[in-house]
Amino acid sequence: MKAVLDHVGIAVQDMKAAVAFYQEALGLDVAPPEEVPTERVRARTIPVGGPSLELLEATASDSPIAAYVGKRGPGIHHVTLRVEDIRAALAHLTARGVRLINSEPRPGAEGSLVAFIHPSAAHGVLVELKQRAAPEFNFEVTSLPFGDLQLTVLHDGPFRLDGGAMFGVVARPLWEKLTVPDERNRVPLAMRPLLVEASWGRMIIDCGAGDKMSAKQVDIYGLDRRHALDHALADAGVTSGSIEFVLATHLHFDHFGGATAIVGDQLRPRFERARYLIRAAEWEDATHPHERNRASYLEQDFVPLKSAGVVDFYPGDGAIKPGVRVERTGGHTGQHQIVYLESGGRTGVFVADMIPTTAHLQDPWIMSYDLFPMETLAFKKRFIREAIEREYLIFFEHDPKVAAGYIRESNGRRFVEQVL
Ligand SMILES: [Zn+2]
Repeated sequence: MKAVLDHVGIAVQDMKAAVAFYQEALGLDVAPPEEVPTERVRARTIPVGGPSLELLEATASDSPIAAYVGKRGPGIHHVTLRVEDIRAALAHLTARGVRLINSEPRPGAEGSLVAFIHPSAAHGVLVELKQRAAPEFNFEVTSLPFGDLQLTVLHDGPFRLDGGAMFGVVARPLWEKLTVPDERNRVPLAMRPLLVEASWGRMIIDCGAGDKMSAKQVDIYGLDRRHALDHALADAGVTSGSIEFVLATHLHFDHFGGATAIVGDQLRPRFERARYLIRAAEWEDATHPHERNRASYLEQDFVPLKSAGVVDFYPGDGAIKPGVRVERTGGHTGQHQIVYLESGGRTGVFVADMIPTTAHLQDPWIMSYDLFPMETLAFKKRFIREAIEREYLIFFEHDPKVAAGYIRESNGRRFVEQVL
């Protein structure tokens, strides 16, 4: 078992006095308090190089810290060792007859998992094992040669939508096994445009939400612009001025908001030199919204493009460029489409909102946002069969962790073998 020192927990009787000592006398930084309701404690972390000190004050008389202080007075309470896999660590200890306080990991601070080893087994020291929370998002910018194409997964940062709306008729007890909602019932989602580089030029498929959102929208959708598309493009070594084609799956703000930007007091095409390739009928729908889709089609995302003369409309399904082909799925919007990337005998598919995340693999797991869910169902059923049989590499635009992978099926259960 490999473990590193994470922190030393110190039980205090008087947090204010303890902070005064560490902060004022020792001159250390003390982080703001965090409540851990399961332990009935308030914790304040003090970074001291690698591992940290953690001041712990009881918030209730039945807190383990209250019991400790009552019995022994304030002092060092526990030592925390961080492990990669806490379940494996507990199994390892159990097999060696080590006495544990918790044989199963329990939730700790910041989404971590923790378990205590009994002090009698650890020579008088209370040892806590801890496994860090898996990161909620994967914002790696990764590239993949694909026949004559070079595909690069970009991102425009995270956002959040209501979990109920994301899973349609599926009840929360089922979907929350696959994704963890926050206190506002929102589930973590990503926006992942795909960069396609070929001999004919550089194309971006969808372009995220962009930076025109109001503070209220940023809050509602949980946007975090520290991970925006500009950063991803920089990571990929590409400037927005070098993008020649912008292809839209549909014109909803989380797919096409990044098409325009505010420059001075004007709305301008965000990719200065690009042609914007838009399906004609989708443009019609987007510019004639109704009560049900008005919140998703924001005029400022696409109307300024037409005024700037940078839009090329195309009539429907077919090849857009060598190796890049679109097909209408309908369902999500009347003209929603997916993009096939075909080169060197391989097929990749950017499935946009037809299968927004890897949690949507089962046929009836369809978003409430879809205008025509039965159309989604029909297309998706056929498509997923085909994707499994022909081993399509699927790009999941909204999955917070998996950018691309193969859909597999075993014993009737579908899963994704992650590639990126
Ligand atoms: Zn979407």
